[in-house]
Amino acid sequence: MKKILFVATALFITVINAQDTYLQSGTILDVASGKLLSEKTIIVSGNTIKSIENGYVSGKEGDIVVDLKDKTILPGFIDMHVHIEGESSPTRYLDRFTKNDVDVAFQSTVYAKRTLMAGFTTVRDLGGSGVNIALRNAINKGIVIGPRIFTAGKAIGTTGGHADPTNGIRKEWMGNPGPKEGVVNSPEDARKAVRQRYKNGADCIKITATGGVMSVAKNGQNPQFMEDELKAIVATAKDYGMLTAAHAHGDEGMQRAIKAGIKTIEHGTLMKEPTMELMIQYNTYLVPTISAGKAAARMAEIPGFLPPVVAKKAREIGPVSQRTFKKAYEKGVPIAFGTDAGVSPHGDNGKEFAYMHEAGMPILDALRSATVTNAELLGMGNELGQIKEGFIADIVAVDNNPLEDVNTLVNAVFVMKEGKVFKQ
Ligand SMILES: [Zn+2]
Repeated sequence: MKKILFVATALFITVINAQDTYLQSGTILDVASGKLLSEKTIIVSGNTIKSIENGYVSGKEGDIVVDLKDKTILPGFIDMHVHIEGESSPTRYLDRFTKNDVDVAFQSTVYAKRTLMAGFTTVRDLGGSGVNIALRNAINKGIVIGPRIFTAGKAIGTTGGHADPTNGIRKEWMGNPGPKEGVVNSPEDARKAVRQRYKNGADCIKITATGGVMSVAKNGQNPQFMEDELKAIVATAKDYGMLTAAHAHGDEGMQRAIKAGIKTIEHGTLMKEPTMELMIQYNTYLVPTISAGKAAARMAEIPGFLPPVVAKKAREIGPVSQRTFKKAYEKGVPIAFGTDAGVSPHGDNGKEFAYMHEAGMPILDALRSATVTNAELLGMGNELGQIKEGFIADIVAVDNNPLEDVNTLVNAVFVMKEGKVFKQ
């Protein structure tokens, strides 16, 4: 009885002490309609948006009031392609031999925090060592500050393919990596690799459908999966409720991935017109990662930064991504915002908006791709990506009207995730 009384009292105290947060918002950009709403108050209770009121309201004593009267308020941004565990550096390839998982874990917390502070409240991590799974869990528990993470764990490739973790190292250390390590060579291997990732706690599946720029391997664009392997990946991922993403620079590998039912094509650098049509037909999304193309091209010109075999590919493939994005967008290919941060610096994710706009995409469309579209792709279209009653309170603020000043999007001045203020 005493215990029940105690619990009841505790509950009562929590209820009367429950603080709401009142965001007095000068301008809210409703990304879905494109309308600018002025002088509103967003009332946040717990982790959700309780209501949006006209005018500036303050609530009861003890509630938190945040003055954002001279800011523009947006839903938290979603980046569909990051690698939160690391960042490009001249020691990137050596790090594989010198860094332990704990070293990677510590550095990943720095990148996670930087990403959130840039206004990216949700990211999809498309491949690392598996530390990204533990990082996601630590963030969910509130131990580490960072965005909500949907992670692929370790990416899946083929022998010598872009995601083979032993590319370029001496023979006796190569071993014989298999599905567990992310290397598959048959439909059976492919099923095993997907199921293994599910077991490890991954949320989604990333494959490397063609060669890539940053791996120590000659070809940056050849197709690297057979149709039957791709089909096995997609069917197994579907059974386990996991979204599929395929890294692809070359056209043939892209076509195979699209036809097999992969949901997002990452980079899409050398995509030809018929493949763009295929993307529309299959409702496959392009994640442009223009930031990565630009970063790779930049790094290629710094002597000694990249191994020669990588620098050569970076010079060829890097500058193409923005041009291809322009064509794809104009043609009507569905676009999902993603940067490949980790190749480009973490925290610079917002620069992608300007790159997309530079290529002809209206700023509002770029913002939609980073909010409404990405939320839907992640299966959270009714909870994330909009400032709306009942939605999760992921909210950012910037100084200027982003529809007039795209560069304001790189400077989030206020960041709230799940109702909690992280930057003010
Ligand atoms: Zn990537």
